[in-house]
Amino acid sequence: MEQNPYELADKAIELLNKKAVRRFNEAQSKAALAKFDELTIIGLTKELYESLAQDNQDTMLELAQMVYRQTKPHGSQIPVVGWLLDFFMAYNPVMKYVYQHEIDRKRQYTAEGINSAKDKPKEFQRGLMYWSRMTDQMCIEVTDAARLKAFEDAGVKWVVWHTEHDEKVCEECEPRDGKVYPIDNIPSKTHWGCRCWFTIKE
Ligand SMILES: [Zn+2]
Repeated sequence: MEQNPYELADKAIELLNKKAVRRFNEAQSKAALAKFDELTIIGLTKELYESLAQDNQDTMLELAQMVYRQTKPHGSQIPVVGWLLDFFMAYNPVMKYVYQHEIDRKRQYTAEGINSAKDKPKEFQRGLMYWSRMTDQMCIEVTDAARLKAFEDAGVKWVVWHTEHDEKVCEECEPRDGKVYPIDNIPSKTHWGCRCWFTIKE
């Protein structure tokens, strides 16, 4: 059996976290220079979150395409940006929100936090933490979606659910280990950080 497919996701997570740290630090320096002026914060956070969103889009598209190509079997409709944007606009049952809408919600939350808090740098760090948490999860979600698309494009009808077989396996997932599901009706994962994965039914 092939190994756990989240190696590429982990690389994407590492890269995006590094970029996000740099972007938040840059924004914080600029904000400090402007003495955390309220209007400046609004403009800066807008710019910041647009850049973060673009970083995620670029890297997640690459991730989806690489995952698709390495999935066996896979079809010939490599994920394109339109596919990814549709995925960003879809309600995510694990995260319990629409990623595309959450971007702006997080921006507002951070801007309001910075403008109202005394410890402004702490609010930047909080914003970074929430952003990274979401980004990490999205890399997992995009990996799953790209794998399932690869299978579906190749005509696969049934998939097998696999847990990670380590002590971190969540109780909800345990009974699903080895179960076979129709590819168009897989129950959604039940919690953040779930790294259960799917293979085709041999
Ligand atoms: Zn799980």
